[in-house]
Amino acid sequence: MTKDGGNNGKADKKAQQYGVTPQSVDFNDWYNEVVKKADLADNSPVAGAMVVRPYGAALWENVQRWLDDRFKATGHESLIFPTLIPMGFITKEADHVEGFAPELFTVSKIGTEELAEPYVMRPTSETIIGHMWSGWLNSYRDLPFLHYQWGSVFRAELRTKAFLRTSEFFWHEGHTAHADEGEARGEVRQQLDVYHEFCRDMLALPVVRGEKTASERFAGAVATYSIEGMMRDGKALQSGTSHYLGQNFSKAFDVKFQTREQKEAYAHTTSWAISSRIIGAIIMTHGDDFGLIMPPRIAPIQVVVIPVGRKDNFDAMVEEGEKLAAELRAQGIRVKVDKRDGVTNGFKYNDWELKGVPVRIELGPRDLEQGVVVVKNRNGKDKETLGRNEAVSGMTARLDAIHTWLLDRATDYMMEHTVKADSYEDLQAAIEGGNWVRAFHCGDAACEKSIKDDTKATTRNIPLDDAEFFNEREEGRCVKCDQPSPYGKRVIFGRQY
Ligand SMILES: [Zn+2]
Repeated sequence: MTKDGGNNGKADKKAQQYGVTPQSVDFNDWYNEVVKKADLADNSPVAGAMVVRPYGAALWENVQRWLDDRFKATGHESLIFPTLIPMGFITKEADHVEGFAPELFTVSKIGTEELAEPYVMRPTSETIIGHMWSGWLNSYRDLPFLHYQWGSVFRAELRTKAFLRTSEFFWHEGHTAHADEGEARGEVRQQLDVYHEFCRDMLALPVVRGEKTASERFAGAVATYSIEGMMRDGKALQSGTSHYLGQNFSKAFDVKFQTREQKEAYAHTTSWAISSRIIGAIIMTHGDDFGLIMPPRIAPIQVVVIPVGRKDNFDAMVEEGEKLAAELRAQGIRVKVDKRDGVTNGFKYNDWELKGVPVRIELGPRDLEQGVVVVKNRNGKDKETLGRNEAVSGMTARLDAIHTWLLDRATDYMMEHTVKADSYEDLQAAIEGGNWVRAFHCGDAACEKSIKDDTKATTRNIPLDDAEFFNEREEGRCVKCDQPSPYGKRVIFGRQY
């Protein structure tokens, strides 16, 4: 084990010692090993389901906290619905049932009694929420309904991958109902923008805001918008969605009201979600061969203090570490003091690097005498010796700088791995090379499917005019079939998680 445990170019050797396969050797193995060894999640005895361990749960709670505050600040109220939904509800909206039928878990028995009408474990809650809304809604004065709930949903998966593909996953689902289309569409965009801001400012994830093509829409939606992020293997991860559902669900569930003019009208509804997949995005956007790199603003532990002492002065160093931690906590920084005895410093350094803690402070007796500490950023190679007080007072700025570094690195990676293609051969080659491709498309579902069959790439989205990336307006003809493109934009194609 290297003495300093730093990112000193011995990635392979260290990875072998610690047992994390380098990303370049096998990205999939790297991911699975990091999830397990960083104590984020474990396999469970339930097929397709994961167990989120405390470190992973702490990360998810930080995600929840920020989003929950923002939902409330934008006027939404949370509520709580049952996990079970009557089977008959799911079949009411034709596209919806077609989309979800193959993934449904069904409860058909209570004790030994067969149920006359089975229940399904909710795959999402539009149907039961629509049913209840129809009873709550009378007049235009009742609108809008601005609701959301936190919980888990169930969609059967054969091949499990922690956080990315599990039969039970965790999320919030936002559901709103409005008197008119304009207001509902405004809500859809507002929530998409909240997700975009969250990813950029809290997770250091650059994401592309755009509209999905018709064949990639949510089952039952009129329009689906997404934010798409690029992982370090060039694949896309749909990191959040926001849907305009038109009157499809309100007609299926009789969500209607008296207008100001005493006429009867159906509500315009929306739904939106970010799920526990976002943790997969954090891991795969920022991680390196040493393990995770937690974006500082969401990290469960932002700074780890490691007392470096011998037997006779270890306790005194721990005490000094606690004092330092208390000063950092007073600034609102999340700090852990690693008090483990009988474990080498090198082991501790590697352990916290694997877990991606943004900053490490080493505190030794000789340094303490001189009033200095040793500081190392997770994303850098070098250790710095700083005055103790300077290290404390500069910590928030240091964490911000790490955030910016991560965001810039991820943005550069996305830009370097996104190419324009104007011929089908170029598209195929670029996808094969692990890139996103920007190309014109005709919008025809069969044409889209033929590209997917050839390349395993799907349309990710069509960037919005105010998207941060790839938003320029351009006219062209379909890269596959040469029909004119209806979008006035290039579409992003990519393989996806
Ligand atoms: Zn085409």
